[in-house]
Amino acid sequence: MALNPHFDIDFTSKKCVCCGQMKDSFSYLRTKSFMYPTGYVDVCVDCLGDRLEKTDYDWNVMDKICQYLDIPFEMNKFEELRPTHSAPELLKSYNLMELIGVLIKRPIVN
Ligand SMILES: [Zn+2]
Repeated sequence: MALNPHFDIDFTSKKCVCCGQMKDSFSYLRTKSFMYPTGYVDVCVDCLGDRLEKTDYDWNVMDKICQYLDIPFEMNKFEELRPTHSAPELLKSYNLMELIGVLIKRPIVN
């Protein structure tokens, strides 16, 4: 899979458009979407995780997040990660899995 040429640009800190906190690149999910030329979405993973938890891991919410990440929503993979991951960990693992094609079964720790 060819990656976006902007994909590997990291940053030390950027402001989440949802919570307004300055966070490093590990706090943001990656996207291949041309709408996000930096390769990262503008809402931090903690805010996205909160949304997922508050909606009781609604598939429609996850599907919408996947649309912004420009990755497919595969509910079987989502449900496989769900019992062993917190919402932010699940999003990070799912994001990486879809982008690099590897299922990481243990939570990713910063
Ligand atoms: Zn945030």
